[in-house]
Amino acid sequence: MAKKKISRRSFLATGPAVAAGSAISAKGLTQETEGVHGTPPSGIPLRVQSLISVLTKKGLLDPKAVDALIEYYETKIGPHIGAKIVARAWVDPAFKERLLQDASSTITELGLTGIGNSRADLVALANTAEVQNMVVCTLCSCYPWALLGLPPTWYKDFAFRSRAVIEPRAVLEEFGMTLEEDVEVHVWDSTADLRYLVIPERPEGTEEMTEEELAALVTRDSMVGVEKLKPFEPETAV
Ligand code: FE
Repeated sequence: MAKKKISRRSFLATGPAVAAGSAISAKGLTQETEGVHGTPPSGIPLRVQSLISVLTKKGLLDPKAVDALIEYYETKIGPHIGAKIVARAWVDPAFKERLLQDASSTITELGLTGIGNSRADLVALANTAEVQNMVVCTLCSCYPWALLGLPPTWYKDFAFRSRAVIEPRAVLEEFGMTLEEDVEVHVWDSTADLRYLVIPERPEGTEEMTEEELAALVTRDSMVGVEKLKPFEPETAV
């Protein structure tokens, strides 16, 4: 049987899908692929299981550490962290100014110490009525994990990575954002050394809200720059 070659990018693109299920768990992998269906594992689960098995036997990996790491990124880290930064920027103009000048240092004021990669700097980008910032990683999937959690599948998709820089308005349109002709679209290409966080415009109708209430309105996609937050309407709020 011919081996199906899996490229590094394909592996990375498939990773979160695997991570979302029990297959990624060192313990759950065995249950998923052998115990439940009674068939041998194949494809990515087989590769993951093989790697875990080999590294464990060599004493280089503790399967519990893998589970703990995945649990951490699935449950502790997420867009709610980036949302705190955005909400603070909305209510505190001086904080926002510092954030735009030096985001890496300024987020430490909120007790945040990194963005998932100690080598990378963070840059905050403020959307305005005239400018829509949009973030992409044309090369692979660089993303501020510690602020936004695991990157969505579409962020790693080749079509998004290529089209975002070729026809950003068309891409934004597909995300449901129709921009006026005079609005500039700025596309920022993330790298291993530089990650971006978009500060979306504060929605109308939120003048009386607390910082905590505001944070609850901020979505992941708005912080990647592919969603504009809608005006808040109390009568439709849950
Ligand atoms: Fe990348």
